[in-house]
Amino acid sequence: MSGTPHPDGRRPAGPEARIDLQALRGNVEVLQRSAGSAAIMAVVKANAYGHGLVPCALAAQSAGANWLGTATPREALALRRAAVGGRILCWLWTPDGPFSEAVSADIDISVSGRWALDKVCEAAAGLGRSARVHLKADTGLGRNGCTPADWTSLLSAAMAAQKDGLLNVVGVWSHLACADEPTHPSIDAQVEAFRHAVAAAERFGADLEVRHLANSAATLLLPETRFDLVRTGLSLFGLSPAPEHGTSASFGLRPVMTLVAPLASVKRVPAGHGVSYGHDYRTATETSLGLVPVGFGAGIPRHASGAASVAVAGRRYRAVGRIAMDQFVIDLGDSAATVGDEVVLFGPGERGEPTAEDWARAAGTIAYEIVTRIASDVPRVYLP
Ligand SMILES: *Cc1c(COP(=O)(O)O)cnc(C)c1O
Repeated sequence: MSGTPHPDGRRPAGPEARIDLQALRGNVEVLQRSAGSAAIMAVVKANAYGHGLVPCALAAQSAGANWLGTATPREALALRRAAVGGRILCWLWTPDGPFSEAVSADIDISVSGRWALDKVCEAAAGLGRSARVHLKADTGLGRNGCTPADWTSLLSAAMAAQKDGLLNVVGVWSHLACADEPTHPSIDAQVEAFRHAVAAAERFGADLEVRHLANSAATLLLPETRFDLVRTGLSLFGLSPAPEHGTSASFGLRPVMTLVAPLASVKRVPAGHGVSYGHDYRTATETSLGLVPVGFGAGIPRHASGAASVAVAGRRYRAVGRIAMDQFVIDLGDSAATVGDEVVLFGPGERGEPTAEDWARAAGTIAYEIVTRIASDVPRVYLP
């Protein structure tokens, strides 16, 4: 056994992602120590980075994260439908919102421009209640957010709507481009632009509850970006947001997801046997090949073919040949592993197994992508 064991010690019938909620709660505590007096927003977009939206949101709240953050309104409304309370900020809107549903569901709404402000006002007027709004400034990321050129006109329209009782401007916020490169010159420029955006909002009479700029990397590496609230995503799930500047362990974080699958086949083959499509791999000697019943259809990156490894009984074996849609092969050598034995694709890395970060390196991507891509039909099993 390696990685995080199944809570009942049971052998899963197929691939399974074990989600260690105790590790998640511990990560919230570690991040809170980094954040100092700033509050924590648990960013649970993309199905909580693949870990499962509602259980992760509740675990983060129970560990003291007072805010939840989602990209899409669908995710924010799914939290409310599951009776998740507390503050929820949602930031990636398109014209059809749905803004009315969000205002009724007491969701904090990010506004990046006039069209969104108008939609929020229309929804609030229709409902006869006021919306809570966080105005988003583009301080240099060049993604969402209001440019400096349009900021004062957005502020003036927002404060007029506030006077009319349609909304309250409770936050000003922005997002960093290079927080994982702590000496990048864009950071000082963005912090400076953010201070200007905040000062302008206050000059217009906004009584801001929260100013927020930091993501995980900034929370851990850039104290000057923490302001009143930090928006932590990847680090909550125990993965390093800046592998060049620290590992999970060096930041005190513990990976939350362990991905396992039972071996579907173990067989002896002679030297020179081709393996998987295209025969990119041929056995050098007589060996045992193990078949892992999960592939790119379930989010295992095909780019990691020939480069990733897995653990069986705490020992590493290489993925050989091409990773296919539903399965891939490992070279077990002379291992005594048998069909049904548990393969750990990745986990906390504390029992000999690789980590999501190792898979990211093997696939030429980032750990964010490894965990978020694990298909939703791979069962998530929660360890309380
Ligand atoms: C995803 C996201 C975050 C969290 O980023 P991490 O690097 O995962 O901590 C914070 N803020 C915004 C706007 C985001 O889109």
